[in-house]
Amino acid sequence: MNTNDASISFSSQDTGDQLSSLRQRLRNQLRVVEDLSWALGDSSPMIMGSYYQVYKTCTQKNCKCRRGEKHGPFPALSWSVEGKRKMVMVKEADAGSVQHKVGAYRQFQKNMGRIRQIMTAIDETLSQIRTLLLEEYPKR
Ligand SMILES: [Zn+2]
Repeated sequence: MNTNDASISFSSQDTGDQLSSLRQRLRNQLRVVEDLSWALGDSSPMIMGSYYQVYKTCTQKNCKCRRGEKHGPFPALSWSVEGKRKMVMVKEADAGSVQHKVGAYRQFQKNMGRIRQIMTAIDETLSQIRTLLLEEYPKR
């Protein structure tokens, strides 16, 4: 075996290692995308916006709210439409449910973002696999 053969066999071994680690990475990436996608597909109802508490002053002249002790907290929901902030008061009875659904929407959006990131990474992994597999014809 001359030095030239040795370097060729080393290089193809190396390529094989790189390919199998790239394929393993691809499997892992696809698994995460699949798990996240099913989790999103199985989501329960959601509400877009921010859930928060508001404190108010009333119209009575000598009320404590005039001295800084405002009434509340009252649950509220706000969201943006075309850059404009909208707000609505939430019924006490709905407060828990609205808060939960707002959280679900936030989580959904977060996972969507994660999926998009991984899709970009999958694209990158496939490009690297393509680079390793691409040959010229005829071989030089
Ligand atoms: Zn008051």
